[in-house]
Amino acid sequence: MIEVKPATPLQDTVELRRQIISTCLFLRDRLGYFIGTWGNISVRVEDGLLLTPSRMAYHELRPEDLVVVSWGSAVVKGHRLPTSEMALHHALMLERPGFGALIHAHSPYASVVASAHRSIPVIVDDMAEVIGGEVRCSRYVSAGRHKEMAQAARETIGKEACAVLLGNHGVVAGGRNLEEALVAVQFVEKAAVILIQAESLGGAVPIPEPLWREERHRYLYKYGRPEDMRGVITDGTGTG
Ligand SMILES: [Zn+2]
Repeated sequence: MIEVKPATPLQDTVELRRQIISTCLFLRDRLGYFIGTWGNISVRVEDGLLLTPSRMAYHELRPEDLVVVSWGSAVVKGHRLPTSEMALHHALMLERPGFGALIHAHSPYASVVASAHRSIPVIVDDMAEVIGGEVRCSRYVSAGRHKEMAQAARETIGKEACAVLLGNHGVVAGGRNLEEALVAVQFVEKAAVILIQAESLGGAVPIPEPLWREERHRYLYKYGRPEDMRGVITDGTGTG
C-alpha cells in the first residue's frame, strides 16, 4: 500500500473560507458539478471540519456562513446548519487521515456510473496519479439516512483511492488540500466519461496494478522534483 502522510489541519481563516466559496462557484458555474444547492465541501481545520452550510445558494455565501464542526459532531463555530451531508465528510475524513479536503458533487457522468453501481478501474494515467486506485461504488442509501450513508461510503472507499461513488447519488473526491480535491473530482468525472465511451470500443483496458502503483508513487513523491527528470535532462556535463 502506498502511504499518504496525514494531512496537517489548516488554520480557519477568512482567506480559506473565501477559497471554499469560490471553489463552490467554480463547481456550479464552470463545471456544472454542483446543481442548485446540491454539492458540498469540507476542509480539515484545527478545530475539526470547516463545512459549507445546508441549503444556501452558493452565490449568497459569505465567509461567516461556513460552519466548523468538531470531531465530536458539535458546531463549534458558525450560526448556520452545516451541510446535511456532514456525516459523510466526517466519516471519510476519519477513515482517511491523508485527506485535507473533500468535495461531494452530483457530477453527471460519475452519477451515471454510480447509478449503474459500477466501479471505475484505473483506466487512465491521470487517475493513477491523482486518484490512486479503483473508485468503488457504495450501495444506495437515501441521503436523509445520514449516518447510514456515511458508513456505506466509509466501508466502500478503501484505504487508497481518493474517491468513492455513492450508489444512485454522486461522488466524493478528496485530496491533500482543496486544490487537489478539485482536480480529483474532475479526474473522476473524466474517467467516468472514458469508461462509458470506451464501452463502444469493447471496453476500457485497466492499467496493470504494479504500473498504476508506480505512477501513483511518482506523483506523490517525485513529481515536480529534479529526481523525476533524472536521466531525461542532462546535467550540463553530458553525463546525463
Ligand atoms: Zn449529495
